[in-house]
Amino acid sequence: MKVWTCRTTKEREKLGSYFADLCKVWAKKMGVTHWDIEVGLEFGIEVTREHREQLDGRDGGVTTANPTYERATIYLCALEEDTHWTQRELEEVAVHEVVHILLSPVTNTFSTGQDNNFLETRTIEAVVTRTSRALMGWFD
Ligand SMILES: [Zn+2]
Repeated sequence: MKVWTCRTTKEREKLGSYFADLCKVWAKKMGVTHWDIEVGLEFGIEVTREHREQLDGRDGGVTTANPTYERATIYLCALEEDTHWTQRELEEVAVHEVVHILLSPVTNTFSTGQDNNFLETRTIEAVVTRTSRALMGWFD
């Protein structure tokens, strides 16, 4: 099974570019290709404090989306040198983040704008996770 690592610059480049491709594939499936979507990899100290807080100390994805201008940025955040993802895990992150973009016209509307609204965050994450798993063909 393919495992994506980020020990060397080359590995990180490959990971970042493959992850961007995955996001592109899923943006097409979800009909959001007309959005301006940037995809970037943050590694180690590049991972911002804000993203670390949103990720709760775990590796993963963070997305900001502006439905008015149909612009979004997806960050894949790898906190440590030995961070790694299996093919399936990486795809799950990509699908999850693109679903955030797909649903942002709805989720941003009822958002209070407070960063630490526990119930709001949990609700949005639950909806996004269930939707992305259904799209990937997982039925839990
Ligand atoms: Zn999420």
